[in-house]
Amino acid sequence: MLTQKEFFEKAGAGELQAVRCSRCGALAIPPRAFCPECSERAWQPAPLSGDGTITSYTVIRVAPRGFAGEVPYAIAAVHMKEGVSLLGRVVDIPFDKLKVGLAVRFRPLTRNGQTAVGFGPR
Ligand SMILES: [Zn+2]
Repeated sequence: MLTQKEFFEKAGAGELQAVRCSRCGALAIPPRAFCPECSERAWQPAPLSGDGTITSYTVIRVAPRGFAGEVPYAIAAVHMKEGVSLLGRVVDIPFDKLKVGLAVRFRPLTRNGQTAVGFGPR
């Protein structure tokens, strides 16, 4: 059973790992306790390639608390090649180049020992 903590540790090492429900085949990322599709708790690890395409994005100009020094930045929902979607921060892509359908690749963002999901150019 992959925990969220392990998920972020692996992500920090550049490895994007989802879990696949062994009952219905649904993918989940980050991992969660129960399958959102069938409520089963029977996950198998499912490593992802890290490749995906942007399905929506938004530019954050007013930062949540603690992120004031970082605005503006973009957050994108990315449809991974394997069929699961993941939210992450966009890095190294100018805002005017952002568009739905743009190919991106997972990139770990580690700061103060905390890893977040990022996406950069493919
Ligand atoms: Zn399931």
